[in-house]
Amino acid sequence: MTVRTRFAPSPTGRLHVGNARTALVAWLHARKAGGAFVLRLDDTDAPPEAEAHAEAIFRDLAWLGLDHDRFERQSARVDRHGEAIDRLKAAGRLYPCYETPEELELERRARLSRGLPPIYDRAALDLTEHDRARLEAEGRAPHWRFRLDDAPIEWTDRVRGPVRFAAADLSDPVVVRADGRPLYHLGSVVDDIDLAITDVVRGEDHVANTAAHIQMFQALGAEPPAFAHLPLLVDADGKALSKRLGSLSLEALRDEQGIEPEALVALLARLGTADPVEPIADRQVLIEGFAFERFSRAAPRFDPAELARLNARILHEMPFAVAEHRLADLGLGDVDAAFWAAVRPNLEVLADAADWWRVAKGPVTPAIEEPDFLAEAAEALPAEPFDGETWGAWTAAVKQATGRKGKTLFLPLRRALTGRDRGPELAALLPLIGRERARRRLLGETA
Ligand code: GLU
Repeated sequence: MTVRTRFAPSPTGRLHVGNARTALVAWLHARKAGGAFVLRLDDTDAPPEAEAHAEAIFRDLAWLGLDHDRFERQSARVDRHGEAIDRLKAAGRLYPCYETPEELELERRARLSRGLPPIYDRAALDLTEHDRARLEAEGRAPHWRFRLDDAPIEWTDRVRGPVRFAAADLSDPVVVRADGRPLYHLGSVVDDIDLAITDVVRGEDHVANTAAHIQMFQALGAEPPAFAHLPLLVDADGKALSKRLGSLSLEALRDEQGIEPEALVALLARLGTADPVEPIADRQVLIEGFAFERFSRAAPRFDPAELARLNARILHEMPFAVAEHRLADLGLGDVDAAFWAAVRPNLEVLADAADWWRVAKGPVTPAIEEPDFLAEAAEALPAEPFDGETWGAWTAAVKQATGRKGKTLFLPLRRALTGRDRGPELAALLPLIGRERARRRLLGETA
């Protein structure tokens, strides 16, 4: 059987790191198995700004390089959902309910205060034909619930291991709203059946839904897929990330924090697994190393500082061929491999390269403290062409002539040449600065 996984975001907001982890795991499993990855937009109950969110979701997934083999919109499949509703009604698995949200809330609170689980009490199952006619005459339209069979629901979760629910502890899920529209639960099950999904990967917050879904698969005559529920990411204090998702949206990480997709993917592929987090930019390595068995049930801590460190390490190893078009996006169209090799070890985010480009090509206002020494050093500058050996040869000559060494030799030169105390190796930077610009900076000119 071909492995088929899906990522099924609702276009109700921007994707965040937790969503990205779910999508990545589903994608890695499909790619490792040579199977298919389906992107399904769960948009049946979409808010007005859904299209903007959908566009952002496509952009985010493309940025992460999580390509899909098939795309579906749940909203385009409502006819199929309607057919399933008819089937389940005919089989006596759906029943009409008339409670208002306020009545349900009161009932829920009453149960909680009596120490009972806050599940639906199935009062509607006791309604007679006559009761229903009366309620409808009052203008109440029914919503419909799926009647769970009172049997244990069990599955072997690919992350959580054996899971068991007693149907009696669960609410019969509402699957059709009072306006006749099918709700997520039913749509999801019908789509997973129609799209022949073999593995459902989703967040742990869906575990109880899965228990109900399993009975829906069975009621529709289908074999349930395998399930993998990932624990939700937590922050350094062990709290759910949801409180501060804004700064952890993929959009913010990309556009505001300069995070590379390879860094985020490398982190999320390994976070909460038995394998170390490493700056692995080669997707194939992550695919081959992927296994559900490596994932822990414990909630992994997502640390933005760890992501920032990994981002720097990814940049330090990024080949020029990969960086080239990104640098062009930054407006650095003229850069070459030598520039990249020179500045790469000093980057935390790619945009830092623009600063170093300015340092190389100017204008830089030099920091001059010892003009006489620097004038002497300028005199000693070798003739062009400058290459990787120039710095060594020049500073050896200056050392010889002045008796300076170490910091007292190098720091004034660096400050004059770059205007800064720290930065890329001057051996690599000096050929980019060139003789004339170097000379002028050593003499205190902005160049
Ligand atoms: N649209 C649901 C969500 O975003 C899908 C969950 C699922 O079935 O995987 O939570």
